[in-house]
Amino acid sequence: MGVKSDYREDETRRELKYVSRETNTMIGVNKCPVCGSQKMEVFLELKDYFLTGESFEISQCIECGFKFTNPVPRETDLPKYYESDEYISHSNTSKGLINGIYQSVRKHSIKKKVKIATSNLARGEALDIGCGTGDFLKEMLNSGWNVKGIEPNNTARNRAIKNYGLDIYNELQLFEFRENSFDVITMWHVLEHVYNLERDLARIKMILHKEGRLVIALPNADSLDAAIYKNFWAAYDVPRHLYHFNQSSFKRLMGKYGFEIIETKPMVFDSFYISMLSEKYKRGKINYLNAFFNGLKTDIYGLINKKYYSSLIYVLRMKNS
Ligand SMILES: [Zn+2]
Repeated sequence: MGVKSDYREDETRRELKYVSRETNTMIGVNKCPVCGSQKMEVFLELKDYFLTGESFEISQCIECGFKFTNPVPRETDLPKYYESDEYISHSNTSKGLINGIYQSVRKHSIKKKVKIATSNLARGEALDIGCGTGDFLKEMLNSGWNVKGIEPNNTARNRAIKNYGLDIYNELQLFEFRENSFDVITMWHVLEHVYNLERDLARIKMILHKEGRLVIALPNADSLDAAIYKNFWAAYDVPRHLYHFNQSSFKRLMGKYGFEIIETKPMVFDSFYISMLSEKYKRGKINYLNAFFNGLKTDIYGLINKKYYSSLIYVLRMKNS
């Protein structure tokens, strides 16, 4: 009897919490982006340790367990959370040890990404959404693919065009491509940033060839390093990361669009990089020994069960194709 009344009180508290979260610059998410349920609870309170220091919360859906940033900035306010020279996804500078390691690992991992995206496929048309400075696309081009890219950040887009002469467009171009245009579409750590998730996934499905391949890399909220660093886990990266997928929530989301996962692969270097950043957020400076140990531990647990890896790459195709 006590259990039921406690639950109702809890529900009321959640409701009040939601109302109070709406502000001039923030929008409360009132239903789960994966299953649509309106039942949610606060999973974690944390800050934008990377840039603004502002406080955010991550909600967890009570129905399906999906975790998502809540509230989120209004779409027009989003750019200010990306205004940093240090936003290394968009820069090629090798200043500092973290950036240096990140950049050299990135060079190695680009070749691996091309292999995953193209194995057993005839050469064709490829689109990289959120292509940054175009390094992955350049490698795809070298492998004989026709490539196009979408990148909302002006600086990164212009650099990709200037450095490699690639066809890179802004985000509006997603709605200009014809249906069935691409044999491969890739999103490397991009989907967690996508503001209009339903609209964009529906569009991606349209422009991908019916027998095409979709490759999506994501931070993994079930990972061991997420459990170790909790609110300081760098891959929460609020509010730039709007969604915090695990294997089951991602499978459920993509199933709604008719996709099935045919392969799941780890990004083993991400655990070290994310542990280093998390150390920085937690202590103000990096304990490299701790970061290395936690990164290694994450990858060893991942060998036993993929759900512990820091980042996962999902290879998808349309069901019944
Ligand atoms: Zn849900």
